[in-house]
Amino acid sequence: MAPPHRPPPRTATVLAKRQVTPNMLRITLGGPGMADFPDGKAGGYIKLRLFPDGPGGPLSVRTYTIRHQQAGTIDVDFVLHTDSDGEHGPATQWAMRAALGDTIEIGGPGPAKPMPEGHDFYLVAGDMTALPAISVNLEQLPASAIGYGIIEVQCEEDRQDIEVPPGFDLDFLVNPVPGTGAEAMLARVCAAAPREGEMYAWVASEFETMRTLRSFFQGELGLGRDQLYISSYWKAGLAEDDHKRIKSEDAALAVT
Ligand SMILES: Cc1cc2nc3c(=O)[nH]c(=O)nc-3n(C[C@H](O)[C@H](O)[C@H](O)COP(=O)(O)OP(=O)(O)OC[C@H]3O[C@@H](n4cnc5c(N)ncnc54)[C@H](O)[C@@H]3O)c2cc1C
Repeated sequence: MAPPHRPPPRTATVLAKRQVTPNMLRITLGGPGMADFPDGKAGGYIKLRLFPDGPGGPLSVRTYTIRHQQAGTIDVDFVLHTDSDGEHGPATQWAMRAALGDTIEIGGPGPAKPMPEGHDFYLVAGDMTALPAISVNLEQLPASAIGYGIIEVQCEEDRQDIEVPPGFDLDFLVNPVPGTGAEAMLARVCAAAPREGEMYAWVASEFETMRTLRSFFQGELGLGRDQLYISSYWKAGLAEDDHKRIKSEDAALAVT
């Protein structure tokens, strides 16, 4: 099979930077290198190409969602997190230090994972890394959609106003230590999931939380592939490169 065609990376310029909530920083990227960025990519992802040790050093690639897209610009929302030693990963560090006019190479865009129309009930769960993708998906739901969403945030003030249909109930769960407490998320999901009737579930979260929720949706509710999108966006204790490896191994086991 021919390898997938990947467009060469683009150089994007930092046009704006603002704090959305205490642990979410929004950076607007644009400039001449983004002039031919394809339209209609909100909810899709880009790959930031970072050189934490300086130009010529090793490349670190990090995945981020396109929260909004306007002509020639995209907004990217960065969760501000630290690891157990209080250190920031390269992407978080880059976002915190970025100044207007700075440039960064980005790969992509990769496709969005929207929620297909026509399901009786939508159950959505995720943490702050999935908040941008969930926001795009919820904004695109038809006004008649019914469902429940639970989003884990690091503090009360990290809640965001997201446009949802009148029949959709959106809730937030505060967890100051992301990557722990899968049970609290499971309890909310379990309480909200309809035991009768048809549903679609969309989940993106930390790896262990994803596995806990996957067992529930596949094992207990018996949701098939056409009723479930579930993905881990990061893994506690691992940088993205190692998480990617574990995620591929897990996916390979999940299909056998
Ligand atoms: C399809 C996709 C879309 C994504 N979209 C977004 C997005 O829009 N916004 C966003 O912020 N993230 C998003 N992520 C997650 C993001 O790619 C990871 O959080 C990434 O690891 C951050 O890179 P880093 O360089 O800051 O940290 P890394 O160098 O990768 O990791 C350093 C340390 O930080 C820990 N860590 C990583 N993420 C978190 C976290 N959220 N909370 C606590 N500890 C963490 C790691 O476990 C590790 O110990 C997305 C991931 C995927 C797969």
